[in-house]
Amino acid sequence: MFPGAHPAKACRIVSVLRRIYLDNNATTPVLPEVVDAMRPYLGEHFGNASSIHHHGQETRAAVERSRDCVASLLGCRASEVVFTSGGTESDNLAIAGLTVLGDHIITSTIEHHAVLYACKHLEETGCEVTYVPVDGRGLVDPDDVRRALRSNTKLISIMMANNETGVLQPVEEIGKIAAEAEIHFHSDAVQAASKVPIDVKQIGCHALSISGHKMHAPQGVGALYVRGGTRIQPLFYGGRHERSRRAGTENVPGIVALGKAAKLAMEGFEGDDDKRMSAFRDRLQQGILAQVDEAGVNGDGAPRVPNTSNIYFDHIEGESMVISLDLKGVAVSTGAACSSGAIEPSHVLTAMGLRTDRARSSIRFSLGKQNTAEDIEVALALVPEAVARLRELSPA
Ligand code: PLP
Repeated sequence: MFPGAHPAKACRIVSVLRRIYLDNNATTPVLPEVVDAMRPYLGEHFGNASSIHHHGQETRAAVERSRDCVASLLGCRASEVVFTSGGTESDNLAIAGLTVLGDHIITSTIEHHAVLYACKHLEETGCEVTYVPVDGRGLVDPDDVRRALRSNTKLISIMMANNETGVLQPVEEIGKIAAEAEIHFHSDAVQAASKVPIDVKQIGCHALSISGHKMHAPQGVGALYVRGGTRIQPLFYGGRHERSRRAGTENVPGIVALGKAAKLAMEGFEGDDDKRMSAFRDRLQQGILAQVDEAGVNGDGAPRVPNTSNIYFDHIEGESMVISLDLKGVAVSTGAACSSGAIEPSHVLTAMGLRTDRARSSIRFSLGKQNTAEDIEVALALVPEAVARLRELSPA
């Protein structure tokens, strides 16, 4: 304390806001076990995994161990896993890498922008793209995919789980359509990995994207499954890393973290983590709907990943709700983090047929492994209160 300072001022009482993070589809906290696994590769084990000396061999071995873990998570061979910088790169690599000028691509209206904008870019540069619609529950109809096939269709790209609603798409049926038509099938499984089991053989896909930071590994690492024997054109030119499918020195700490997160995800399925998660999600969803009228679940009636609930609250603005809850310590979102602040309502919710005002009033609650029963109870006490206050202020 400075000489002469008032003691009461020096020991101000600081009340600490309890922060509850329910925006795990935007990004997840890195689990302590994952931090522990990657830490040595930020320090003592610093070698370039392509170097032939001791330091390189050490990190090469770690990269290959992680590749085995990711392969086990996806049900594929280690040689079919390509490490990337994340979901966006994996999606772009699959879409640009499996098509050439003049090809036709089938995708859906509710894909993440990493897929939609990659397709739009190819459309502008000489490919044709069909965007199949979804129904009111947010589901693609496989018959629409079949009807969209043309003689020059080379790729179907349909996501496994939607990032805003959590709705799981009928990927196995779509995989069969691709197999019958003898064309490639890519699925963006960024929001499915670690939440539901994935078996690439059962899905029948040729490529599948995952991202580390959606499954408790850090941001900036991901992977693309590429079925053995599938010729994929790389996005980057350089060294012959990742069997010439992705040039660039491997992000060893990130890859080690992704491998550990994949291992933890598999252990989680054995320990029924997904059932615990869906019980929390259902408690939150039912608790909110029991206390708030003129509210409902977007994607209700469709199969969903266990951690996501997207709820509309008529007569409020979603953005105001996000701010209001944040002031109370609860982090939620109105949809995709990369679209936050967007003027347009969610392209996913409008594709499902929601009115603009209802789409704008929707909030995504997404849980992670770190959430507790207490988090849910605190959120349940705060959400109805926030809705009531915003509705009082609303001119509608
Ligand atoms: N695909 C989906 C479904 C996503 O939710 C996201 C991120 O929100 C991405 C792709 C992009 O992944 P990344 O942030 O790792 O680039």
